[in-house]
Amino acid sequence: MADSEEVSVSNDSEPLLSVRHLRKSYGDHEVLKDVSFDVKRGQVLVLLGPSGSGKSTLIRCLNGLETIQGGEIWFKGQKIANNSEKTWRKLRAEIGMVFQSYDLFPNLTVAKNIELGPTKVQKRPKAEVAKQMDQLLADVQLTEYKNSYPRELSGGQKQRIAVVRALAMNPELMLFDEVTASLDPEMVREVLELMLRLAKRHMTMIVVTHEMEFARRVADTVMFLENGVILERQPGDEFFTNPKTDRARNFLESMA
Ligand code: ADP
Ligand code: MG
Repeated sequence: MADSEEVSVSNDSEPLLSVRHLRKSYGDHEVLKDVSFDVKRGQVLVLLGPSGSGKSTLIRCLNGLETIQGGEIWFKGQKIANNSEKTWRKLRAEIGMVFQSYDLFPNLTVAKNIELGPTKVQKRPKAEVAKQMDQLLADVQLTEYKNSYPRELSGGQKQRIAVVRALAMNPELMLFDEVTASLDPEMVREVLELMLRLAKRHMTMIVVTHEMEFARRVADTVMFLENGVILERQPGDEFFTNPKTDRARNFLESMA
């Protein structure tokens, strides 16, 4: 995960990601309304909110998968030109994303799935990528599945490979959108534990989850979204013990 060739002049007190007055609409329907927040390096931001509040849309905006109608997104001190596909194509290597549905290429082996981005997009040497892949696979205890196809893996194994595939790009920020939501209960834990390990190693992450115990453990900061508006943003322990708004309190009660 170390990113040793990085020689940027960014200083550590500057946020890794800054979102300012972000607006996103589908037609007349404004889904994100003036959303502003920062994420510092090493921080884990948990994004909570009822279904339809705009969590997935926000995550997608942060990976350039949505055009936005207003506001600014800053990454590593640089403003990302609005809706610039060229910029986002470059940044997608640095901002890893894992979704709810397994998005592994079904016709490629686990190894090929992992190597594709680093070798084809980042054009890194095959041997170096192979070495990193072996370490990552060992880390998630899936070495023996290297030459398997996604269909030969359980849901939990597929999601761990999806995480490994994103990590193989050496991202500086990881976005997770309900990555355990379609897993059988017995497989949820192995994926959550992997994310907890990443957090411990100071990976910067934005996490959308319905797993409240996990959210409590992993969150440095919780942001509570409703109808596209940030209603609360506070340290994790404070949010879970003493939410400021009735909305958030009701939400927590409904999840208990
Ligand atoms: P969440 O992830 O919090 O459940 P979403 O970001 O998926 O919420 O959705 C927020 C709102 O945006 C919902 O009202 C949803 O219906 C709407 N929405 C999401 N994606 C689209 C789309 N592609 N086209 C139109 N409306 C959408
Ligand atoms: Mg969603």
